[in-house]
Amino acid sequence: MLFPVSDNETSNASPESTGQLLLQLQGIDTASDQARHRKSNLEERDKLNALAKSVIEWERRCNELAGQIASAEQLVAAAEHQSQEIDAKRDRLRKQMKTVIAPREAEALQHEIETLDEQRSALDEEALVKMDEQSSAESELSSLKDRESELRAQATAATSALAEVESSIDAGLLDLASTREQLIASLPSALVHRYEQVRAKLGVAAAMLTGSKCEGCHLDLSPAEVDEVRRAPADVLPDCPQCGRLLVR
Ligand SMILES: [Zn+2]
Repeated sequence: MLFPVSDNETSNASPESTGQLLLQLQGIDTASDQARHRKSNLEERDKLNALAKSVIEWERRCNELAGQIASAEQLVAAAEHQSQEIDAKRDRLRKQMKTVIAPREAEALQHEIETLDEQRSALDEEALVKMDEQSSAESELSSLKDRESELRAQATAATSALAEVESSIDAGLLDLASTREQLIASLPSALVHRYEQVRAKLGVAAAMLTGSKCEGCHLDLSPAEVDEVRRAPADVLPDCPQCGRLLVR
């Protein structure tokens, strides 16, 4: 299909420069696509996400350890309380022992005292284990707390780094958009419309014809097709018979 480049509404550009302007427009659109792709695949964002995960994991572990410490403290306190009760009961039984005469009764008391002794030492052991757990949780929590300011500083730095690179890409995109507007204004609107249609379908809408090869699809045109393109009037922009892109001669 042959496409006229002038539509009497806009543009004082000559047909030769119209092709060049269209290639410039294509260059700007490709650069914008690349900038947007870069913006959505920034390693600064990956780094920030990884740091955010570390902060979340850090907070989760701190809370877990604080919970372990509190529960160990409670268990130790409960064991101490029970131990005091056992001690008091054992003291009472020992005093009672001194007043007992009947051997059976003495034996029963002795048995009860021994049972209390066993309970007491089991409680002591349990408390020791819990105190041990508490102490190791406290030391891990303390070394985690030592890392807090470093971790938060890293996250803050990563947030700024991402914002900086994003705003620099945005500034570049704004520049491209303003150059694009100027280019569009200097091109025939029907041609721009055709360009946008092809671009929506193929991404790249304008391509150079180099020798017999379309630089858009990298396929060779037949000698007859090349001839037709080359002989097309200066005011029409032919499209590639292979891919449909607008061919700039
Ligand atoms: Zn092509």
